[in-house]
Amino acid sequence: MLDAGAPLLPHMHRLGIQPIDIDVVFLTHFHGDHTLGLPPFVLHRIFVDKPRAITFVGPDGIDKRLEALFELSWGVDWKPVMLPRFKARYVTARKRGRVAGHEYETVRLDHGSTGCNGYRIKFGDRVLAYSGDTEPTAPLDALVDGADVAIVEATGPGDVFSHMSWEAAAALKKRHPKTRFVFNHLFSGTVTGAAKDLQVLEV
Ligand SMILES: [Zn+2]
Ligand SMILES: [Zn+2]
Repeated sequence: MLDAGAPLLPHMHRLGIQPIDIDVVFLTHFHGDHTLGLPPFVLHRIFVDKPRAITFVGPDGIDKRLEALFELSWGVDWKPVMLPRFKARYVTARKRGRVAGHEYETVRLDHGSTGCNGYRIKFGDRVLAYSGDTEPTAPLDALVDGADVAIVEATGPGDVFSHMSWEAAAALKKRHPKTRFVFNHLFSGTVTGAAKDLQVLEV
């Protein structure tokens, strides 16, 4: 799973995806629109699913940031009641690593004051690139270079502070004609060819 925005659990249910089937969650950064879907998801893993290990991969400090989120969510019940039933492993993303049988690379992207981890994840001989949030700077080109599929943010038209505009997204796509792009993170509006809400894309 790549990031965990707020409607995560209801969307999984509507698409017939079982929370128990998620082995790894890659988090790009800790902004709320990428992490606040985790508490209901974790609740499901703890009380509905049978205990099964899950790995969270993310930027430095991932253990502290996620534990703080879960303590905020459940207060004094988190540590004694829920944590013992939650088989989670927190992993700080390395430059290159391997998790759940997949090799990955981390590319640091420009976003906000802390930056963002972009990931290149191998599926057999294919490469999926995922940006999370980023400005359209040189590291983003490095992230998507040679990838078969790239899921990249394109927040909106014109001036989009700390993010990538639709115009910059079009230019990025042009510079990498062999990569199939899926743009996400739109904050408003729609464009021709946009996927419908909850549409499943075969890639
Ligand atoms: Zn962000
Ligand atoms: Zn965001």
